[in-house]
Amino acid sequence: KLYNQVQDLKGSIRVYCRVRPFLSGQMNYLSSVQHIEDGIITISTPSKNGKGHKSFSFNKVFGPSATQAEVFSDMHPLIRSVLDGYNVCIFAYGQTGSGKTYTMSGPKEHTEKNQGVNYRALSDLFLIADQRKDTFLYDVSVQMIEIYNEQVRDLLVTDGTNKRLEIRSSSHRGLSVPDANLVSVSSTSDVIDLMNIGQRNRAVGATALNDRSSRSHSCLTVHVQGRDLTSGTILRGCMHLVDLAGSERVDKSEVTGDRLKEAQHINKSLSALGDVIASLAQKNSHVPYRNSKLTQLLQDSLGGQAKTLMFVHISPEADATGESISTLKFAERAA
Ligand code: ADP
Ligand code: MG
Repeated sequence: KLYNQVQDLKGSIRVYCRVRPFLSGQMNYLSSVQHIEDGIITISTPSKNGKGHKSFSFNKVFGPSATQAEVFSDMHPLIRSVLDGYNVCIFAYGQTGSGKTYTMSGPKEHTEKNQGVNYRALSDLFLIADQRKDTFLYDVSVQMIEIYNEQVRDLLVTDGTNKRLEIRSSSHRGLSVPDANLVSVSSTSDVIDLMNIGQRNRAVGATALNDRSSRSHSCLTVHVQGRDLTSGTILRGCMHLVDLAGSERVDKSEVTGDRLKEAQHINKSLSALGDVIASLAQKNSHVPYRNSKLTQLLQDSLGGQAKTLMFVHISPEADATGESISTLKFAERAA
């Protein structure tokens, strides 16, 4: 109900918080999450004089037992608006291991029930397009890219090429990365095939200890073109589904070389994203999109007529309290 009141505020940013459940083997772990109710999450904050706590308020807070279907349940209006010609951006923020990839892509072993936002969004999109087939003819195509160390790479290559791509201003046929493969899709199984290719390319060069996927941003972009069958009018909408790099702070005294460089790039792009979102939330006239590749990429889908949904993720362990608080503070700037 609340969603219906807010959904027509174009340019608005909604923030959802999701707490990951404890994993198997973590049965006896202490939780930092004290309470969740009505969009408010309360975190225990150990301090010198005993226990304190801190509360944060969001459009919605999903506890550890929330299902993938519940998390997606009120996103239908967002999907519909892509088919109406608006731009949408959905992204997952949080420290490594907090559940970003689980929310967006689902777990490694996919079942229909545990599919993530990406799959559900596309499946919904095809469903609505089909319901409108007497009045609109839709064409859906996707791109999938990765931003690593401020360089853009195509994840939908099958020949192992790895050329750097440029981000252009939107006037370029509505594509911000015109040179990335653009693949037409007409069913959810097409989408699953592509996501698998993207996933495989993302893993290239990564070892178990050096999981690059947690240090790059990946973005699945869905381009929708609809032709009104009576008037011939063309509508264009696009949706970015972004799995951000891990937001954990890296101790500069402990890392050097490539690892330090990666950390600095991640830090720079996540703060640029935070600054953009904060200035949109404050309705500032100047929005600093130019400060990172990530914000340049998303420029047309943040602010203006676009709708943005940010999912912030929390790991429940008491050990993660510091990171959880900094994640919640980041998210609070958007609200
Ligand atoms: P991130 O992408 O933020 O690094 P992952 O999505 O890889 O984190 O999640 C870390 C681990 O926790 C994975 O094994 C994942 O399957 C599991 N996990 C995350 N969120 C959930 C959830 N809501 N329910 C069950 N398992 C989850
Ligand atoms: Mg991940």
